[in-house]
Amino acid sequence: MGYSLWNNRIVLDKEVIIDREDRGYQFGDGVYEVIKVYDGIVFTLNEHLERFYTSAEKIKLMIPFKKDKLLMLLRELVHKNNLGTGHIYLQITRGSGSRQHHFPHTIKPVLVANVKENPRPLANFENGVKATILEDIRWLRCDIKTLNLLGPVLAKQEAYEKGCYEAILHRNGVVTEGASSNVHGILDGVLYTHQVDNMILNGITRNVLLACAKEIGLPVKEQAFTLEQLTTMTEVIITSTTSEITPVIEIDGHVVGTGKPGEWTRKLQQQFNAKISVLVRS
Ligand code: PMP
Repeated sequence: MGYSLWNNRIVLDKEVIIDREDRGYQFGDGVYEVIKVYDGIVFTLNEHLERFYTSAEKIKLMIPFKKDKLLMLLRELVHKNNLGTGHIYLQITRGSGSRQHHFPHTIKPVLVANVKENPRPLANFENGVKATILEDIRWLRCDIKTLNLLGPVLAKQEAYEKGCYEAILHRNGVVTEGASSNVHGILDGVLYTHQVDNMILNGITRNVLLACAKEIGLPVKEQAFTLEQLTTMTEVIITSTTSEITPVIEIDGHVVGTGKPGEWTRKLQQQFNAKISVLVRS
């Protein structure tokens, strides 16, 4: 039996009760984070919590704990569950109240976190994955990690039905990001990635990737690229907490580069792995 964090208490999973009038359930009115844990060590926890608080602020939701307290509780949750490699799922909703669109006055946020053992999908990192291109039909605040995931859910389903791992989204021919990842391309020794704005989620792994690029001497241009430019990229990568640095080797039947993960991708993956080993050893 596992343990969950429920508001400020760690309880047995089965003790968590979510009201059917919770606004997370009825409106998707809340924000969340997925945080990776390697050998019991939480990776980039500060960065995830920073984004969690920022996302909450952007939807006018006040998290009723200090960041330090939540950080401590999440570490305790990992420990209590004896989690090795896996992830923490953390969400907060505006709370429960009689259904109306505007915020009820006396509402209190509801926070829940649980963990899942989840080994690294090494085959994907090694061999790469296929992707499909779809129109980005999401709202215009993709910088907020909201519980409203219908856009990505529909995109992922379409990708899945086509035998693809990810959907690469575009708006008017400009690549934004993946349904649940950031998308990057490498051409002539430069890594291109969408600039940080309201069209993408500023991925924690994206930032780790950019740090890795700097460390291995790969110049970065934070500048959106078009679908046409995407087809000229010799390497394409998606990043996310769970997908880490995953090579994309085929997009709608178009073979990327040589059809195998490229040299820069391998170097970036090695640099990423080095960061994890340091973390686990220290
Ligand atoms: N963009 C979207 C739309 C996502 O859902 C995710 C994964 N949550 C990412 C990017 C990657 O973010 P991160 O690296 O912080 O997991």
